[in-house]
Parts: sequence; C-alpha cells; structure tokens
Amino acid sequence: YEDFIHKADKLNVVGELAAGVAHEIRNPLTTIKGFIQLFQAKHSCYEQYFQLINSEFDRVEAIIYEFLTLAKPHKETIFKEENIFQILEEVVTLENANALLKNIEIEYKSVQETLLICCDKRSLKQVFINVLQNALEATSEKGKIEIFVEKKNNQFVEISFKDNGCGIPKHLIDRLGEPFYTLKEKGTGLGLMVSFKIIENHRGAILLDSEEGEGTTVTIQIPLCGDCPQISVGNV
Ligand code: ADP
Ligand code: MG
Repeated sequence: YEDFIHKADKLNVVGELAAGVAHEIRNPLTTIKGFIQLFQAKHSCYEQYFQLINSEFDRVEAIIYEFLTLAKPHKETIFKEENIFQILEEVVTLENANALLKNIEIEYKSVQETLLICCDKRSLKQVFINVLQNALEATSEKGKIEIFVEKKNNQFVEISFKDNGCGIPKHLIDRLGEPFYTLKEKGTGLGLMVSFKIIENHRGAILLDSEEGEGTTVTIQIPLCGDCPQISVGNV
C-alpha cells in the first residue's frame, strides 16, 4: 500500500510538470516541422536522413501528445453515471479496425445490460484504449484478445483484458507504470502511467498478471455507482 502511495505522489509531480513543459514545447516544434518539410522538398538527395529526422520527430510528438493528455484532465473532467457496457462497446468498435489489420480477434460479448459506474467517460475510454493497444502490440497475427466484465459483491465492476501475446518477464512487472518505462523500440512508456493515474482518481485499481510467452491479463476495478465516495468534478 505504501508503494502505491509513493507511486501516486510521483505521478502528480510528473503530471504538473507535463502540463507546462509539453505546452511550451509544442509551438517551436510546429515551426521546426515546417522547415524540415521545406528542406526535404528541396534536397531529395538526403532522403534517407530526412526519413530518420521524421521518424524521430514523430516520436517526440507522440511523447508530447501523451504528456498533454496526462495534464489535460485536470481541467475538463466530468464525473457522471455511465453504463460500462456502452463505454466498452464504443472502445471495441474503435479498436476492431486495428485488430482486423493484424488479423487479431477481439472477443467481447456485449451484454444487453446496464451497469452504472461514476466516471469521466473520456478518461476511462483513454485507459481502455491504452490497454487494448498494448494487448494488440504484444500479440502476433491470429492472436486473440478477450474482454470480460464481472460485477463483484455489488461494490465494484471488474473489467479484464486477456491476451495471448508475448507476456511480461516477472521481474519487470513492478516497473510498469513508471514514466518512460517501455520495452518497445517505438514506445513512449507513458500509456500505463496515464492509465494508473486515471484509475487511481476513480478510486479504482489496475492489476497486471502475466506469464512470459503465454500472455497477459490486465484487470481494472472501478467502484459501482452508489458505492463511490463523493467524487468532485475536475480532479482526475
Ligand atoms: P508503451 O506501450 O509506449 O511501451 P506503456 O506504458 O503502454 O508504454 O507500456 C509499458 C510496457 O509494458 C510496454 O512497453 C510493454 O513492454 C509492457 N506491456 C504492457 N501491456 C502489455 C501486454 N498486454 N503484453 C505485453 N507487454 C505489455
Ligand atoms: Mg502503450
């Protein structure tokens, strides 16, 4: 538990820093990008260097983008009663396009049911997208991702994302959620950090269970409506 608090403190500091820094960096970046494109058009003999510049540039932009989403929720979060099945339906529809490209099946049996949670829908969708994206990236062609929803003792809802991808080595699991901790060549290592922060502010929890070479299950617990303590607007 102490560990958890420690992590949360670290996340708040990073979040505040992110807001200022990311914003300030964005404008000069736009100018630089414009000039790169101009030079690229004029100096086609350096094409291979421009390719490298552009791919590194994309990486910088991805990091700034994730930093901004991390910082943004401070201002615009709205906690409302939402149907968890509706949210998942929307996320799966979105991610199915990506999954199809990789020939991966996302198995989610949408139940005609209503299960209300008190949440900021946009932030929560962001968490589910992050988790699904990770599952897709970890899974090879013809893999499978399953989503389960379960109500636990009338107190919280548990959403599990189970993939049969590459898995995570045991000794690395504790480090996940640290800023910039990534095992991917093009990763930012910010997705899980943002997700931990959002779920923490929903008074929920994220649990990771993984077996190297077998797959990973990410379980997200969120309090059901009626059981959530007074959550104020604007504090995700
Ligand atoms: P990124 O995706 O940019 O690397 P994340 O914070 O989203 O950053 O994830 C951090 C790391 O956690 C990933 O680099 C990956 O090694 C590991 N990871 C997360 N989810 C999964 C998964 N479902 N299967 C395997 N590894 C995962
Ligand atoms: Mg990710």
